[in-house]
Amino acid sequence: MSEKSQAALLKEKLFLKKEHCSKIMTDEEIKACDLFCEGYKDFLGKSKHERDAVETAVAEAEKRGFVPFDKNGSYKPGDKVYLNNRGKAIILCVFGTQGVSKGVKIAAAHVDSPRLDLKPNPLYESDEIALFKTHYYGGIKKYQWTAIPLALHGAVVLGDGTRIRVCIGEDKDDPQFVITDLLPHLAADQVKEPLASGIKGEELNVLVGSRPFRDDSESELVKLNVLNILFEKYGITEKDFQSAELSLVPAYEARDVGFDRSMIGAYGHDDKVCAYPEMQAIFDVGTPAYTSLCIFADKEEVGSDGNTGMNSAFLSYFVSDLARLEGLEGRDVLSLSECLSADVNVAFDPTFPQVTEKNNVAFLNHGAVITKYTGARGKSGTSDASAEFVGKVRRILEKNNVVWQTGELGKVDQGGGGTVAMYIANLNVDVVDLGVPVLSMHAPFEVVSKFDVYMTYKACLAFFGDDE
Ligand code: MN
Ligand code: MN
Repeated sequence: MSEKSQAALLKEKLFLKKEHCSKIMTDEEIKACDLFCEGYKDFLGKSKHERDAVETAVAEAEKRGFVPFDKNGSYKPGDKVYLNNRGKAIILCVFGTQGVSKGVKIAAAHVDSPRLDLKPNPLYESDEIALFKTHYYGGIKKYQWTAIPLALHGAVVLGDGTRIRVCIGEDKDDPQFVITDLLPHLAADQVKEPLASGIKGEELNVLVGSRPFRDDSESELVKLNVLNILFEKYGITEKDFQSAELSLVPAYEARDVGFDRSMIGAYGHDDKVCAYPEMQAIFDVGTPAYTSLCIFADKEEVGSDGNTGMNSAFLSYFVSDLARLEGLEGRDVLSLSECLSADVNVAFDPTFPQVTEKNNVAFLNHGAVITKYTGARGKSGTSDASAEFVGKVRRILEKNNVVWQTGELGKVDQGGGGTVAMYIANLNVDVVDLGVPVLSMHAPFEVVSKFDVYMTYKACLAFFGDDE
């Protein structure tokens, strides 16, 4: 063997190494990763809608000894509580050994995903077919939502206050729903439209029935038949849609992708692919030094407003309650707190290389991606993490053999996006985005790499467990 040249040695010392997880992970760790991802796929199947995700989190947390938070309670290190915010957002909390006087550690993901919500008066009959009118939720490419199987999730509140949970289209024997598209034979005009207008918002109408109620004298009998079925099953009348939150989501289940099963395809990776790792991390952290919070937030895909979104006061109120238990002020605790905004970023796509900049895009299988800033057009709308905080997170990740990379959401002026980071940073918390790179983000079937999912879990666990 010839000795390494001076340049080779210097390169080794000075250049940034961009390494594939498989070069660093042991066989045992790869096995643990694949097993972890089986749990993730199971979670995804039960958590398509934010209400589903919160119910799953409560069930999993209670199995592990978490109990509802009592703001007048008394707690000791290792105690586990949760705050269920209206069934659509949740905080899981494990009390640390040192109390909250030096701040808390927060990991925050969102559990809402792009989808089609029903309008308040959704049901109509047209030419002997019954349909639902929808209003899309979050950033979607509308043409991707036609001609795919859909399931209906959500809740209806009846006139007497009874809340009915709805999930139709997930069980093997359930019916499913679909939005029709034009046959290519007759799409000559449609295919000349730009992608953005090929399918329009008001064309996202969902097929829900076609067989009339048997009666010769009345009109709208197909609609009547659908309503009668809903009434018999749920006690719902047409008026009850006005006090409902019902969403159509892709009826796909999470599946391994690729001959090598290295990837997972599913609806709703953004952002359940970060929610699940941070939840498992808080389950596995034991008794940390810092009191640790895992948040599932709602409304991120529509701007984080509303009382279940991260722009609401529920996090600061919760931290204030923790502070008061120790005779402290919430703002003093928040000011010393740190947060991983656990959200996805774009993964480099060899089919569409033109939208990303190769030195600053995340690659599949290169680990958890740290996104120092989001935003668009000159970093507008970002909290942009400080060098000091990114430096600290970097130390924690490296100490714990977490494979990680940095990424930017596309080329400068190509587009952009945001996360919950800035809403938490605005509470005077140090925040940086960390999560999983995704292919086909916001599509009905998104793709992630299993290695990256596992590294995001390891990152959250290291962050909660660190005592620096
Ligand atoms: Mn997201
Ligand atoms: Mn998103």
